[in-house]
Amino acid sequence: MLNSTSYLDFLSQILANQVRQVTIAQNSIEYTVSTANGLETRQTTTEGDLDALIQLLQKHGVSFKVDNQNNAPNPWATVVLGLAFPALALASAWLLQKQGDGESFGAYGVGKSKAKVYNQGQTGITFQDVAGVTEAKQELQEVVDFLKNGQKYRSLGAKIPQGVLLVGPPGTGKTLLAKAVAGEAGVPFFSISGSEFVEVFVGVGAARVRDLFAKAKRQAPCIIFIDELDAIGKARSSNPQIGGSNDEREQTLNQLLVEMDGFGTNSGVILIGATNRPEVLDVALRRPGRFDRQVTVDRPDKLGRVAILNVHVQGVKIGADVQLEKVATQTAGFSGADLANLVNEAALLAARNDRQAVTMADFDAAFERVVAGLENRARVLNPIEKKTVAYHEVGHALVGALTPGGGRVSKISIVPRGMGALGYTLQVPEEDRFLLDATEIDGQIATLLGGRVAEELVFGRVSTGAADDIQKATDLAEKAITQYGMNQVLGPVAFDRTTSQFLGGSNRRQISDEVAQQIDQQVKASIDQAYQVAKEILTVNCDLLESIAQKLLAQEVLEGDELKNLLAQGQAAVCA
Ligand code: ADP
Ligand code: MG
Ligand code: ZN
Repeated sequence: MLNSTSYLDFLSQILANQVRQVTIAQNSIEYTVSTANGLETRQTTTEGDLDALIQLLQKHGVSFKVDNQNNAPNPWATVVLGLAFPALALASAWLLQKQGDGESFGAYGVGKSKAKVYNQGQTGITFQDVAGVTEAKQELQEVVDFLKNGQKYRSLGAKIPQGVLLVGPPGTGKTLLAKAVAGEAGVPFFSISGSEFVEVFVGVGAARVRDLFAKAKRQAPCIIFIDELDAIGKARSSNPQIGGSNDEREQTLNQLLVEMDGFGTNSGVILIGATNRPEVLDVALRRPGRFDRQVTVDRPDKLGRVAILNVHVQGVKIGADVQLEKVATQTAGFSGADLANLVNEAALLAARNDRQAVTMADFDAAFERVVAGLENRARVLNPIEKKTVAYHEVGHALVGALTPGGGRVSKISIVPRGMGALGYTLQVPEEDRFLLDATEIDGQIATLLGGRVAEELVFGRVSTGAADDIQKATDLAEKAITQYGMNQVLGPVAFDRTTSQFLGGSNRRQISDEVAQQIDQQVKASIDQAYQVAKEILTVNCDLLESIAQKLLAQEVLEGDELKNLLAQGQAAVCA
């Protein structure tokens, strides 16, 4: 039987630098302490705030480990707000002061867990503070309603979603949105960053997760916000040889999954996660009942940028000559954070020049500064690039609208997007399609090539911007021949063997050199033909191409009825 001591004694021994090694288990702490008789092993209970203890141990250079083997309920959590705690905290504060060690009471306060806690409405942020992300706000409005009127949903037996994942590039307002949800609903907001969970000490992250959820549950309804979710949620590597297994992260992730499953659908705790790398997240996190709702928070378009600028010039003295709309036009590709930074830089410049108000010249100078700092981070297109992208996208849209197979063209945008696209054309199928006929595949290939064709026709030169389109068009042309047997010359012979029914992988069968050559020729021929079709269409409609591209350059986004009416003016090419 180990020598048992009180938690308070344990703390004072740490402060006196007598403690050597600490093992923190769920129900008890074992440690060695140097005494007059040499090293002794002792045991104490786990009371008090885990993070505060860890900080103290680190400060005094004590080596420790956290043992999570035991599955008993977590005593940390019950003690934190339990009656014993204030007394204990006060006692240790007294102790610390008496020892003159410099640690302050704050280090032992209840809020000392790493998660920042904002109480009811305290984030002070509402949807009004977030501009230009209308769709994301609409989706989150629903979450606000769940938090505010949970009873309404529960009485109908509806299951309230538990996890919402905000996905988008840095600085687009994900953190801001999460805070605004808490602000709108008037509920407490627990915020922690994924990277703060994961420490060098195995087990600490998992213990923190437990602690956080226990605290949150007691304050439900509330929000737990986990920023940089990818820091914990990275897919567990199936092959440790490649990924390099990371025990600490895995334990933390597992604990997170356990907690998410544990808190039942109607506990009133809603988890919001944020990441700019959704593709690396472990699939287990995306299962139903976990982060099963995804809300995209993308860089703002021009109107969005005007709105965001308007939010940030509140409280800044703006001169009469400042046209925010012009600033917005200039700043395609800027995120909300970049725009906030721009306004601030302009104000700083104005102050440095002893001006009474911020002028347009300050904005211009600030723009240059900010852009210089943004290189590689945000994509800010120069005017020539922007023009190229505009014609390119309208090329896709027009060919898409006038050939079968691609569905309705619903949106064209030249706002650079997070994942590397400089612009995009969105085609949505009008109904669920399970079969495509050969003319539809040809139409799709022509549509993919429409961007490149437009560049060639308008500028007389071509750019690298079509690389991805060309890749896709070639893939599709090849598949039509080798898998769908649609080619006249080669006939209905499958040259590819599918290797996985579900994943769609395939490999080439044994074929002769002559057949290989024929396949190459036929792929080339079908690409050439589609290119001609696209060229025909865009030549016939070159005036329309011009006028839509000009509109797109001015507005950056075309959609809805406006786009529909424009595209409806297109004339099908006579020969194909
Ligand atoms: P993220 O979490 O997506 O990286 P943040 O929410 O931390 O971005 O944004 C950082 C700052 O940028 C915010 O505090 C705010 O000042 C500004 N900002 C970002 N997006 C917006 C927006 N949509 N509306 C208003 N301000 C924004
Ligand atoms: Mg953030
Ligand atoms: Zn393209």
